[in-house]
Amino acid sequence: MTDRSTPPARPARRLLLVHAHPDDETINNGATMAKYAAEGALVTLVTCTLGEEGEVIPPELAHLASDRDDTLGDHRIGELAAAMSELGVTDHRFLGGPGRYRDSGMMGVAQNEVADCFWQADLDEAAGHLAEVILDVRPQALVTYDDNGGYGHPDHIQAHRVALRGYELAADQGHRVDRVFEICVPRSVVEEGFARLAEAGRDFPFEQVASPDDVPGVVDDDQVTVAIDGSAYTDRKTAAMRAHATQIAVDGPFFALSNDLGQPFFATEYYRQVRGEALGGGPSGAPAGDLFDGDGDFNGGDSGDDGRGSAS
Ligand SMILES: [Zn+2]
Repeated sequence: MTDRSTPPARPARRLLLVHAHPDDETINNGATMAKYAAEGALVTLVTCTLGEEGEVIPPELAHLASDRDDTLGDHRIGELAAAMSELGVTDHRFLGGPGRYRDSGMMGVAQNEVADCFWQADLDEAAGHLAEVILDVRPQALVTYDDNGGYGHPDHIQAHRVALRGYELAADQGHRVDRVFEICVPRSVVEEGFARLAEAGRDFPFEQVASPDDVPGVVDDDQVTVAIDGSAYTDRKTAAMRAHATQIAVDGPFFALSNDLGQPFFATEYYRQVRGEALGGGPSGAPAGDLFDGDGDFNGGDSGDDGRGSAS
């Protein structure tokens, strides 16, 4: 099928996601990534750390944890690769290379002070690594967390800072990404998801139920700019979540992290645009259904940046 004599053309639509740890991409954007990859877009994932400080769910793998063998990072490289295979994503990279930045642990722990942890990273150096990726891939859409990292984890906050600084550095060097989006979840959707979870009653598989406050990035509904309907990719997202077995336990339409608090699974994923020309929304102010503007006039192709980005 493939003509080996010519290199593959660069896909017209290119999406870059910046995440803190392996598993964040799948939990937050797994359906979005699978959808765009299936549609032929280039989906590039940059993960900033190996997630060395994560807690380990399966007892038989507990020895990997940082307070025992400290080999969880290497293990999670494999989990991430398996998850990306489930999502159909082939371009996944670690910021500055695997292991360049170590997981900083939760806010306030001693690991925040470790010299090579991501929280201690020099912002311009880390963002410089990301700018290299941006100049290589020339994405039109960039996805990351809000300025609180969704829920205050230092690596998520730093990933937000690096993404926005990398966006600026790349713009100075010749490619301005058309649009930057922050991951969010509309409050009404979270409340509906937890109502569904409550109805599951005693069929519910996890020890306790999380509350809407445990969900990162909850915003008022009118803050949501884009809603990606990933329902056709539910199976792929679920399989990718299962691939992150040290971090996620999946049971039917629910999942839990190492805190064993059950949460509803979301097949539609939401975004709030924070840079670039506003996307046209749906009827009566409904969110747009696409992270790209859909007119086929994509900025930043191989012919170079035309500089029409209007980001603030
Ligand atoms: Zn994370």
